[in-house]
Amino acid sequence: MEHKTDLLSLFPEEIAEQFMSEGLPRFRAKQVYSWLHKGVGFDGMSNLPQKLRQELAQRYDAGTVSVFKTFTSVQDGTQKYLFALADENLVEGVLMRYHYGNTLCISSQAGCRMGCAFCASTIGGRVRDLTAGEMLHMVLLINRACAQGEQRGVTNVVIMGSGEPLDNYDNVVRFLRLVSHPEGVCISPRNISLSTCGLVPQIYRLMDENLPVTLAVSLHAPNNDIRSSIMPINRQYPLQELLPACVEYTQRTKRRIVFEYAMIDGLNSGLEHAAALASALRGMMCHVNLIPLNRVDERSLRPASRTQIDAFLKKLTDLGISATVRRSMGGDIQGACGQLRRRYLEGKSGD
Ligand code: SAH
Repeated sequence: MEHKTDLLSLFPEEIAEQFMSEGLPRFRAKQVYSWLHKGVGFDGMSNLPQKLRQELAQRYDAGTVSVFKTFTSVQDGTQKYLFALADENLVEGVLMRYHYGNTLCISSQAGCRMGCAFCASTIGGRVRDLTAGEMLHMVLLINRACAQGEQRGVTNVVIMGSGEPLDNYDNVVRFLRLVSHPEGVCISPRNISLSTCGLVPQIYRLMDENLPVTLAVSLHAPNNDIRSSIMPINRQYPLQELLPACVEYTQRTKRRIVFEYAMIDGLNSGLEHAAALASALRGMMCHVNLIPLNRVDERSLRPASRTQIDAFLKKLTDLGISATVRRSMGGDIQGACGQLRRRYLEGKSGD
C-alpha cells in the first residue's frame, strides 16, 4: 500500500517543516491545520489555491479512518461506531449523549495484549497500535456527523475503547496534545479521561506531561489475589505499587482518580470485598465506578446481581468512599468493550 504522511498526526509546526522540505509554502501550514481539524479535506480548503490543494492530496493523507457501520440505541440514543482503518482493521467508538454534552469513547489499539479475563478486546491479542492521527480522525468524523445533524459536537473524550492506552504511550500523548490544541478542536484535558489497567511506569510518566487528564484505573479487585486471577498485569505491577502511583497522580494533577470496578458474581462482589476496597482506598482523592459486568460470550464470568451491587455500593458509601453505579448505555447495541468488533471478526451479523 502506498504510504503517505497523515497530516492529522502532526502539529502545525511539523506540517510547516514538511511543507518546507518539500518545496511547498510554509505559511500555509496553519491554514491547512485548522481546516483539517474542522474535518475538512484538501478539496474543501477554499482559501487555498486549487493547484496547492491538488498537490497536497497527492502527497499527504488528511485522515485515513472511515465510518464502516453505525448503530443507534433505541433505548438512549447512544451511537456505536465501527471505524475502518486504512489497512482494514476495525476499531470501535461509542458516542454517549448526556445533558452536559457528548462523550466519545475511542479505542487506542486494534485488539489488546493485556489479557484481562473478562474483556472481549483482548481475545485475539493486540493487532496494532493506533496512530495519533487515527484517534483524532475518529473525533473529527463524529464531530462532523453531529454538525450535519445540527447537533452539538464532541465535548468530552474517554480513551476507554479497545486497547491499553498506556501500552501505546507516545501516540496517545500526541493525540491528547492534538485534540486539546487551541487551534484544533480544543477539547480541554479536563474533559478527557484515560482508562488504564495499571501500567505503573507510564502513570508516572503521564503525570510529568502537564496534561491534567482524568485517570481512570481498572481496579476490579480489593486485593492482589483476586486481581491477579483476572488481570495478568497485576503480577507485574501489584496493588502496593499501583495505588501509591495513583495517590501521586492525584497530588500532582489535582485530579480525582476514578477506579473502575466490574461486579463479577462470586469473585469480587461480597460485602467483605467492599470493606477491603474501602480500606485500600482510604484517604485517597477518588471515586469508585461500579460497573455491572457485561457478559462476553467467550468468557465464563457472570455479572453480580443488582441486589449485590446495591449492597456493595451502600457498604462503600457507609465507609466514606465516594461511589456510584455506572449507568449502562447502549446495551441493545453491544455497547460494551470490544464486543461489536468481535462479532465482525467472527463473521456474524452485527445488526
Ligand atoms: N485498557 C484500558 C481501557 C479499555 S477497557 C483499561 O483496562 O482500563 C475499558 C473498561 O472496561 C475497563 O475498566 C475494563 O476493565 C472494562 N471492561 C472490559 N470488559 C468488561 C466487561 N465484560 N464488563 C465490564 N467492564 C469491562
